[in-house]
Amino acid sequence: MNKLFVISGSSGVGKGTVIKKLLQSNNSIKLSVSTTTRKPRDGEIHGEHYFFVEKEDFLKSVDNDEFIEWAEFSGNCYGTKKEFVENTLKNGQNVLLEIDTQGALQIKEKLPETVLIFIAPPSIEELKKRLIGRGTETEEAIKKRLSCVENEQKNSKYYDYTVINDTVENAVLKLEEIFDKENQN
Ligand code: 5GP
Repeated sequence: MNKLFVISGSSGVGKGTVIKKLLQSNNSIKLSVSTTTRKPRDGEIHGEHYFFVEKEDFLKSVDNDEFIEWAEFSGNCYGTKKEFVENTLKNGQNVLLEIDTQGALQIKEKLPETVLIFIAPPSIEELKKRLIGRGTETEEAIKKRLSCVENEQKNSKYYDYTVINDTVENAVLKLEEIFDKENQN
């Protein structure tokens, strides 16, 4: 099958961990690597976690219409390259995007058959605890990211599915069920 799936969720919700597990057990899904102007965190690799670029180069790609969607999130730009998505779908494979809710809604408008999945935390308190506990962001950046949560939850109303990440195992099982169901349609 060749379907486009999008997973979104607020910073700290644990979507990275859930997606990693999902991909380990499911090799029919290809994850798109996004382009960003954000600086790499410790351990992040260019071409594997993101394509890290300068803002000038990002804007050139915007002008050249290379992105299927892009958005500014918490002071940085993030975008999905069209080429990978189109070629992978053409080759008959499922594509997964891990992008924010603004980008997801842009995709849904262009390609309504896209399956949007929102990963939600068990509670906002738990989300804050996870984001602070992750230790990858400054206090300033954490505040900025938490200020996006309300809007993300509003946008999640337009999603096809919401999966609560209470435990990684439960969330992965629910995602597998969604992928199986959607691939039968
Ligand atoms: P982070 O800086 O924590 O890696 O990502 C911040 C946010 O940007 C997350 O919500 C993530 O899903 C989103 N994001 C990552 N890549 C893309 C992309 O290509 N497009 C859009 N719109 N959002 C993205």
